[in-house]
Amino acid sequence: MSSSTPSARLVIMGPQGAGKGTQAARLAETYDIPAISTGDIFRANIKGGTELGRLVQEYTAKGDLVPDEVTNAMVRDRLAQDDVASGFILDGYPRNAAQVVELDGILADLGVALDGVLELTADRAELLERMRKRAEIEGREDDTDEAIARRLDIYAEQTAPLADAYAARDLLIQVDGIGEVEEITGRLVAELNPRLGV
Ligand code: AMP
Repeated sequence: MSSSTPSARLVIMGPQGAGKGTQAARLAETYDIPAISTGDIFRANIKGGTELGRLVQEYTAKGDLVPDEVTNAMVRDRLAQDDVASGFILDGYPRNAAQVVELDGILADLGVALDGVLELTADRAELLERMRKRAEIEGREDDTDEAIARRLDIYAEQTAPLADAYAARDLLIQVDGIGEVEEITGRLVAELNPRLGV
């Protein structure tokens, strides 16, 4: 994207299996911004055997949330890096009300604000089916039946309500997550562009 293109500071939310990671990567390319997935950062640390990895492994394996102070500090560090100066798409954060407050604080300290919060919607049966398939392909440690159910429950209880908070700020863009990958990206971009002044 050219330097005249406005910044895009985005959050993408949606239950596990809704295609957030896929869409985040596609939007990152469209708007030339980094996709920041807290889950990916945790997995890379677990794989690399870092101190952070050892700390979070017991939570991620069960599908529980990593404690806020750990996650918040990691996101604050990441958003202070140079490559996010003109934007970012956060995938998997914020996941609860306390993280929304923290993100507001991080962005206020940086003197920037969100441009949009994207929510991909899908029903539970479809999500379970997709996650079982992904488990077969990727072999993720937290794609066991129990951990999958746990993550969907946590999403419904703690994360889904955040959409209302963002809707009240007129930031929410809700898009049906069922369909072809390209078609869904098209829906997201069509809603986002006018907001970004593209
Ligand atoms: P994900 O790849 O987004 O499904 O994240 C995988 C796992 O990482 C989650 O089940 C949590 O254990 C942990 N995790 C990722 N993002 C967060 C977050 N914002 N807050 C707490 N835990 C998180």
